[in-house]
Amino acid sequence: MEGMIPIMTLQSINEHCYYYSTAVNVGYVHVGNTGMIIDAGIDDSSIKKVVRELETRKLPITHLFITHAHADHYGGAAYLQKKFGVETIAPQFERAILNNPGLEPLYLFGGNDPLPELHNKFLEGKPIEVHHEITEGSYMFGEIELQAYLVPGHSYHQLALNLYGCLFAADAYFSEEQLEKHKIPYITDAEAAIQSLIKLREIPCDGAVPGHGEYEQQFLVTVEKNIDYHEKVLEELFQLIKAYPEGISHESIVEQLCGIYKVTTTKLAPWLLYRTAVTAYIIGLIKREKIVHRIENNKWMFIERKGEA
Ligand SMILES: [Zn+2]
Repeated sequence: MEGMIPIMTLQSINEHCYYYSTAVNVGYVHVGNTGMIIDAGIDDSSIKKVVRELETRKLPITHLFITHAHADHYGGAAYLQKKFGVETIAPQFERAILNNPGLEPLYLFGGNDPLPELHNKFLEGKPIEVHHEITEGSYMFGEIELQAYLVPGHSYHQLALNLYGCLFAADAYFSEEQLEKHKIPYITDAEAAIQSLIKLREIPCDGAVPGHGEYEQQFLVTVEKNIDYHEKVLEELFQLIKAYPEGISHESIVEQLCGIYKVTTTKLAPWLLYRTAVTAYIIGLIKREKIVHRIENNKWMFIERKGEA
């Protein structure tokens, strides 16, 4: 009906796997008396909607897995811990941030004490306890068996989970709509992000659900679009740097790449995210040995790498 907000519901993927489709997806896996929530949404109100549905269906809530320490994925976790005492699992390294959420605005701000406006719910959730720190491998929690895959490039030690044929891919790839919306997607290392996308091709599963977007059986089509997208940004950035034979500064690259992609932001927090994303592509070109960098006149400068062809 016109003007009606669609009612989000828990969608069933297979016998064991579900997801609650919303701005930030929340996964759910159920085996016997074990029920594991995968990521917790951005705040209490978003996770409460999921909890309400699980309770209506009399589904257990015993475990929580956080794929990576970004506030939109763990903001509702403290509520789950308080209300259900969920046994909480998280990737190593990401755990440090889940225990100390102030680290996220701190690293985005380059290590300086964050200004007050950077302490917001998009960058900093409530701290949580992590009972099991894991890395890539096979694990059993309660009656749930899972396979964790290390997929860095968006967050330093992000893990994707493969359970009962469903891959909960976290932010290892984005839906097409997300790519269009963000223009320069938030990543931390373009080369690592692309390698993680390539790794997704080899994971045996029937389909996947990303952190933002819908479940797809043919998710590898979207994965290829992600690879193409990152390659396109890398090429655009390379052409930009090439156009400056004397070198171009980091600040100018951020300005110009954001200009090419029509990114317009007037706030510090989103600008810091874009600065990190642009730098991720710069890192990609350095790793591919297409460009070199140097400090010149106290500016961080980039130039096409010449010499051995
Ligand atoms: Zn994320």
